Amino acid sequence: MADSAAKTDLRSLPLDRLQAVLVEAGYPKFRAKQLYQWMHVKGVDRYEEMTNLPKAMKEDLASRFALCKVRMVDRQISKLDGTQKFLFAMDDDALVEAVFMKYQFGNSVCISSQVGCRMGCRFCASTLDGLQRNLLAGEMLGEVYGVEKITGEKISHVVVMGTGEPLDNYDNLVAFLHMLTDENGRNLSMRNVTVSTCGIVPRIYDLAKENLSITLALSLHATTDEKRREIMPIANHYTIAQLMEAVEAYFQTTGRRVTFEYSLIAGVNDSKEEADALGELARKASAHVNLIPVNPVKERGYQHPDRQAVEAFQVQLEKHGINVSIRRVLGRDIDGACGQLRHRVLRENQG
Ligand code: SAH
Repeated sequence: MADSAAKTDLRSLPLDRLQAVLVEAGYPKFRAKQLYQWMHVKGVDRYEEMTNLPKAMKEDLASRFALCKVRMVDRQISKLDGTQKFLFAMDDDALVEAVFMKYQFGNSVCISSQVGCRMGCRFCASTLDGLQRNLLAGEMLGEVYGVEKITGEKISHVVVMGTGEPLDNYDNLVAFLHMLTDENGRNLSMRNVTVSTCGIVPRIYDLAKENLSITLALSLHATTDEKRREIMPIANHYTIAQLMEAVEAYFQTTGRRVTFEYSLIAGVNDSKEEADALGELARKASAHVNLIPVNPVKERGYQHPDRQAVEAFQVQLEKHGINVSIRRVLGRDIDGACGQLRHRVLRENQG
């Protein structure tokens, strides 16, 4: 186990790379396809279950390569709405969260892209313990497959909105997106995938060039650079004007409308003037706005506005002719906000 980090992880390799690696290791190409189907169609992560592969080959692969596993260590099921929150452990015992939600349009899973986060957003629990490491593509896939296997439900939508900044783990994220939507693999529709970013501008341009039909969600949360810097350290690197140029380029290249996420914090970013400013930014960018009443995190003092204030903010925004939704509050009773379950378990483990 100690040296497994240095070994190539077979579950993180797209089919063409897996074929090259297996051929290099002395096996016929068709074996790669069989292995890939076990891992990505059947969601199997143990060689014992891969019944059509020769035993000697499995033993050889097991000694030369890694095959990452994602195991469940905690599960909470909301009594209010059936939302389920999973705490998964990786082979090195790193912990990440994933959330399963049922919607009218289908079943959605929200996955983590990193173990912890280094972006430092003031209202977010995921960043309280810093960044431990990036997740591999196979580990992100393992979250999706794990939720499907444990719930027995088919997932139709994947949102990369759990712990971590996906564009801070760019190469693994892009490999994950290709594999999740690969017709030889899990074959999820690209259009049902959303990636949420705090706004790492150069990576938004890179992602546009990949020309994937995914939805990009931008965590805006403020309408002036000054206010944004107060709550999001990333705003010290990129201005809102630069962000708007980047999302415009994303929209032009991919034809996909961007979503602006806006976490409403009482007394911080919920004024009528801010609704108007956000409305103008969204109108110019042809963006949809998703309002998220902030989920209070104990370590931070922020509160969400009351229901009436949230609705007033929405009405004001809609005057600008844009599409606005309010994120349904799901799983309030189960450490619903990003990173809360992991943070609590880390605290408990420290005694
Ligand atoms: N790093 C990505 C994914 C983060 S989580 C990003 O920044 O977009 C997905 C969304 O939830 C982001 O918009 C994030 O800012 C927001 N969020 C995090 N903690 C929150 C909280 N306590 N209440 C409301 N929204 C929160």
